[in-house]
Amino acid sequence: MIRNVLSIAGSDPSGGAGIQADLKAFSARGVYGMAALTALTAQNTQGVSGVHPVPPQFVAQQIKAIFADVRVDAVKIGMIANAAIAEAVAEALTPHRDLPIVLDPVMIAKGGAALLAADAVDVLTSRLLPLATLLTPNLPEAAALLHEPVAENRETMTRQAEALARLGPLAVLVKGGHLAGDESPDVLASPEGLTWFEAGRVPTRNTHGTGCTLSSALAAEIAKGSSLTDAVTTAKQYLAGAVAAADTLSVGTGHGPVQH
Ligand code: PLP
Repeated sequence: MIRNVLSIAGSDPSGGAGIQADLKAFSARGVYGMAALTALTAQNTQGVSGVHPVPPQFVAQQIKAIFADVRVDAVKIGMIANAAIAEAVAEALTPHRDLPIVLDPVMIAKGGAALLAADAVDVLTSRLLPLATLLTPNLPEAAALLHEPVAENRETMTRQAEALARLGPLAVLVKGGHLAGDESPDVLASPEGLTWFEAGRVPTRNTHGTGCTLSSALAAEIAKGSSLTDAVTTAKQYLAGAVAAADTLSVGTGHGPVQH
């Protein structure tokens, strides 16, 4: 049976990130994709020029409409925009907290635009982290959630992954793409312990939407029944292929999207 996966996230009209990336990744990973919108953004490959959040009660209404009718096998949460939307999403998902929920704590776009209000970080921590099966922060996001400096080495990555896991999620994947050097290791802290995933860097500037793509591929693999470790391995392989193929696209003049 084809699995159904719901993304709760923002829109990127240029098609590289947000729900557009999520739906492409869901299709590519063989699940049926759905999307409840939290915010419209105006953006292209050069950056974000505007954010228009959806009224919180209407975010909740979209989620409730889906659950009232459709079997949902996994949820991915991306851009949440502000504290009131975080509260609304938490409330709408609490009855479904036994489902696999992948939480990508989207905060700042690669171009520097804020995709989460500063006062929403602690609401994300208190309301959404406890619902998450898997939290997928990059290094600046892990640091912001913990109010600590950004990790610069594997020891700090490990400590922050374990500290975040104590805040409620079942497992935490801290992504090391922001580390200096040639390596881009990720660490998974789960009830089974610590697992490192090694990866080299792909020489391309077209990396827009990599975080969205990874968290969606993870939700798809978990929906299909993979263990967390297998899901991370498969989703990272999928993302690596999408980044490797990014230069076959010709989309915009800035940081272009990956090719699903
Ligand atoms: N726009 C939306 C709606 C997003 O959800 C995200 C990331 O999650 C971005 C933009 C930023 O994408 P990137 O930082 O990969 O360019």
